[in-house]
Amino acid sequence: MGSRVVAIDGPAGSGKSTTAAAVARALGMPHVESGTLYRAVTLAALDAAVPVEGPRLVALAHALPIRLDLTASGFRPEIAGTDVSEAIRTERVTAHVSAVSAIGEVRRWVNEEVRRAVARYPAGAVLDGRDIGTVVFPDALLKIYLTAAPEERARRRLRQEGRPSDPDDLGREVAELARRDGADSSRALAPLMPAPDAVLLDTSGMTLEAQVAHIVALARKAFS
Ligand code: C5P
Repeated sequence: MGSRVVAIDGPAGSGKSTTAAAVARALGMPHVESGTLYRAVTLAALDAAVPVEGPRLVALAHALPIRLDLTASGFRPEIAGTDVSEAIRTERVTAHVSAVSAIGEVRRWVNEEVRRAVARYPAGAVLDGRDIGTVVFPDALLKIYLTAAPEERARRRLRQEGRPSDPDDLGREVAELARRDGADSSRALAPLMPAPDAVLLDTSGMTLEAQVAHIVALARKAFS
C-alpha cells in the first residue's frame, strides 16, 4: 500500500497550488504547498542577511522558528508565530528561492516538516511542489505532473499577482519563469522532473474546473 497522498508537481505558474487547493477541498483533505517552506526560509535569510549556505539556513529555520500551521483554509507558513503568506510572495523572495532550495540541508529540513504535517492526516493529503512524487512521497497513490505553455504560465502568474500584462511585462515574466525552471530542473538534488509513474497533464487549454474534476476522479479511484 502506498501513501495516501496526491502529489502534484510541475514548473512555476503551471497552476499547481490553485489546482491542489481545489482538489483538496473536493476530497475533504488538507493541502500542503511545499514551496511555502522554501520561500519562508529565503525570506528569513534575506531579512537576517544570512548568507545562502546550508547549515546556517537550517539553524535559522529552527531558531526563528519556521512552521506550517493548519488553519481552516489549509496550512499557513509562520515565522515565529507571524503569518508570512503574503511576505513570501514578493519578487525579492522569488528571485532568491531557487538558490536556497538547491541546498541539501534545506531540502532535508523541508521534507521532514512536510512529512510531519502529512502524518497527522492518515486519511490523506494533497501536496504540491517540484519533487513530491519523486523524492518526498515516491510511494504516493496518485502523482500528477502539471505543465502549460510558457506564455500561458506567465499570464497566469501576472494575473495571480495583480500585475499588468502588456507585452513587455509578459516577455519579462516568461524569461523569469524560464530562469527559475532552468535552475530548478538542472540542480543536482531533487531536480524538477516528472516521476516515471506520474500522469502528465498539460493545462494550456483547460479550465481550472476541468483540471480539478479530472484529478479528483483519478484520486477517488486511486484511494478506493
Ligand atoms: O511553488 P513555488 O513557486 O512557491 O516554489 C518556490 C521555489 O521553491 C521553486 O522555484 C523551487 O526552487 C522551490 N521548490 C522546490 N521543491 C518543492 C517546492 C518548491 O525546490 N517541492
